[in-house]
Amino acid sequence: MSKSKEIEGSELSLESASKELPSSVENNDRAEKIPATPIDSTVKDDQTIEGQQINGFEGFGFNEKLITTLRNKGYNEPTPIQKAAFPELMLSRDLVGQAQTGTGKTAAFALPIIEKLEKPGGPPQVLVLTPTRELAIQVAESFRSYAIDQPGLKILAVYGGADFRGQINALKRGVAIVVGTPGRVMDHLRQGTINKSELKCLVLDEADEMLRMGFIDDVEWVLEQLPNERQMILFSATMPSEIRRISKQYLNDPAEITIKATKQKTSLIRQRHLIVQNSYKIDALKRVLEAISEEGVIIFTRTKAITLTVAEKLEASGHSVAILNGDVPQNQRERTIERLRKGTVDILVATDVAARGLDVDRIGLVINFDMPFDKEAYIHRIGRTGRAGRSGEAILFASPRERGFINNLERAVGQPIDKMEIPNNETINKNRINKLQKNLVKASETGRDHEKETVLLKELIDKIGKELKIDANEIALAAINLALGPSPLLSQEDESWIKQTDQRRYRNDRREERGGRRSRRTDFDQSSMDNNMERFRVEVGHRDRVKPGNLVGAIANETGLKGRMIGKIQIFETHSFIDLPKQMPSDIFNNLKRVKVMNRELQINRSA
Ligand code: AMP
Repeated sequence: MSKSKEIEGSELSLESASKELPSSVENNDRAEKIPATPIDSTVKDDQTIEGQQINGFEGFGFNEKLITTLRNKGYNEPTPIQKAAFPELMLSRDLVGQAQTGTGKTAAFALPIIEKLEKPGGPPQVLVLTPTRELAIQVAESFRSYAIDQPGLKILAVYGGADFRGQINALKRGVAIVVGTPGRVMDHLRQGTINKSELKCLVLDEADEMLRMGFIDDVEWVLEQLPNERQMILFSATMPSEIRRISKQYLNDPAEITIKATKQKTSLIRQRHLIVQNSYKIDALKRVLEAISEEGVIIFTRTKAITLTVAEKLEASGHSVAILNGDVPQNQRERTIERLRKGTVDILVATDVAARGLDVDRIGLVINFDMPFDKEAYIHRIGRTGRAGRSGEAILFASPRERGFINNLERAVGQPIDKMEIPNNETINKNRINKLQKNLVKASETGRDHEKETVLLKELIDKIGKELKIDANEIALAAINLALGPSPLLSQEDESWIKQTDQRRYRNDRREERGGRRSRRTDFDQSSMDNNMERFRVEVGHRDRVKPGNLVGAIANETGLKGRMIGKIQIFETHSFIDLPKQMPSDIFNNLKRVKVMNRELQINRSA
């Protein structure tokens, strides 16, 4: 019978990574989970390997230097997935791990890989495939941080959109571990710039994500290229049937580990993001603060210098702001937090380090003015709101280039981070009127503390009314004007840049749709799409080396359409989109399905 390990998992939190680790590791029959060959469990319970006592990271066969590095990083105990994976991977077994991000899965495969590397450079020995470039960068960074005591060990992240030549040069100099996205890895394999002769280990990280993003054919293509004798490790948060098939087809007698992730504690926090060009971040921040009235706000920036700039700009527009960064002496920090707690200051601009562990109940809004360094920082930042059982809001500012990180953060918190628009004048003005109304209602209900003064003020109103022959409404208006001061109640600030941001964002979307590659024909722009055209998808792409001319030629031949009647063409790795005149007769449509371009059937379909 197939046997695999299912382990109660836990997300690591910044505050207590090791405290939160569960104490039980158990073996369960999980044959229905991934139909793979039986494995014999090496982990007997949570504390012993083959009867031997585990002390932190000792007992797995890691060298002393690596153990010291881990200690210095603050890793005291292996996480459940690490405890289960290390023994298998140190034996060079294939492994299927079902684990989410946040469980320590990267170190689970990275540490044994580093330990077992034969040499620091030369042709690549390890290839890690990740769905996104952000994850590729992150995983490569993790490898580097674990191999910090081996400066000669070469690790390279390769992904689309980055300089190809630079990657080729680095590969020529020798790289032991390559971490990359499927498309770019394919390009290097095709060109022979990744020498596969010494590849001994392949890792598929977040395999289900690669499936979701349509990369699975590319992944299989890469798998087919690799030497037969190699170790394969597959990690996936979920196990859709396609991933199960891959694990069955390409992995050899894999060990199976399932980590059941516990739910994040961020569910009381409404999380949103907005896309803004860097040059408009301060304007966007002011607008957000105007549109969302929350009691206390923390704005996180990446550096001390930015805390100062942001605070200055906000003060200049009338906000009461305090700063919390590493340069602020401890006693002053405590005073600042006290002021925030009491409400004498509403906005705190802070760096991650300075705000670590900050616990103030009245924080209703956290703004990630700068993208956090990693997902742990994000979880920590947003955890400053929604405290003491209250709800809270978190808004993440991202530049168009940083959009890819949002998806990673969503997976880390297990919740969507919805998109929001930068508040425009209409939204801000509605909010200003609402606020004024609330303040007037409150003032009318509470009245004035001093009775004598109230009597005097009423007499004053009567007097003015009689003298100027105006009614109470007009006097009330004059009083509001006086209270508001000279600046206009309604914002008429320039908001044209918000639209520009939208348009740029739109163009970026299109660029992303092109998969980071240039469309061979024209830049795709939906606004110029002819109304008489309809979009179709065909199943040929870059992997088949198809060029727009091949598609135009084949379709023109089959349909009798003139080349110029064939619209825009976008080519992706495994498929392409093509705009053709509407109302294509069904017989032509059916014939087109079987037309072969670059030796592959078009399998044309209307694009959803
Ligand atoms: P991952 O699931 O690989 O994305 O890792 C989540 C986070 O946990 C990363 O920030 C790691 O640095 C951290 N981490 C991994 N293993 C451990 C450990 N044994 N103890 C403490 N932190 C860890």
